[in-house]
Amino acid sequence: MLICLSSILISGCASSEQTNSESEQTESTKSASSGQEQTKENAQEENDDQQEAEEKQEEEQQEPQYKVSEVSSIVPIDDANSQVALLTFDDAPDKHALEIAESLKEADAPAIFFVNGHFLTTDEEKETLKKIHDMGFAIGNHTYSHANLNDLTEEEAKEEIIKVNEQVEEIIGEKPEFFRAPFGENTDYSRQLAEDEGMTVMNWTYGYDWESQYQDSDALADIMVNTELLGNGANLLMHDREWTAAAVPDIVTGLRDKGYELVDPETIKRPS
Ligand SMILES: [Zn+2]
Repeated sequence: MLICLSSILISGCASSEQTNSESEQTESTKSASSGQEQTKENAQEENDDQQEAEEKQEEEQQEPQYKVSEVSSIVPIDDANSQVALLTFDDAPDKHALEIAESLKEADAPAIFFVNGHFLTTDEEKETLKKIHDMGFAIGNHTYSHANLNDLTEEEAKEEIIKVNEQVEEIIGEKPEFFRAPFGENTDYSRQLAEDEGMTVMNWTYGYDWESQYQDSDALADIMVNTELLGNGANLLMHDREWTAAAVPDIVTGLRDKGYELVDPETIKRPS
């Protein structure tokens, strides 16, 4: 979404510059020859000021507004809205990720899709990831095979993590921005490696869609919105599942009705 914003900004920038140079020309033509240089200088100064202001505005938009706390909730860095919730979808892109992305897009709701490398091998799966990314969603690394990182050697863990970054970069042209360990089981090594790779590490604050009584879209939509675990900065874990896909519109509406703003992942701080 930031990409959209900055391209609007850039195109807005280009057209206003054009307008400026046109008016500059007109003014110069009108001016007497003695005043011409002065007018040009003023116009140039104005242009510089405008460019500076626009650059500053762009920087401010990229300034992170939220960070991930020790318990994986989303907390404001300065004066950003604290009544927010983050939507995340793990084990993607399997059979329902595209449908989930389309529902979210329809509702203008941002989210992170945490992907596994073993779901990114066929042309169709790669195309799905590309579509999800092109719709403006953030991509997270959820390891290649969804193994428990505690059961792996450092070398194996490295392979599980780095391989996905390479796959994602090859498909969408950029590396994942977030990392979530399968089962929430990080090691000191995996956490450090993910951060060294520029990813923000997070688990979640609650989720239900793997429990048998919530493998139903109505029951899931109800618990996701009405659980007592919903609070400021909630980090909602969901999966690429049929009942989850069907529940997404009601979850988005329910959270908003309760006054929660859905966090744009692009505003969350990355490791520097
Ligand atoms: Zn998972």
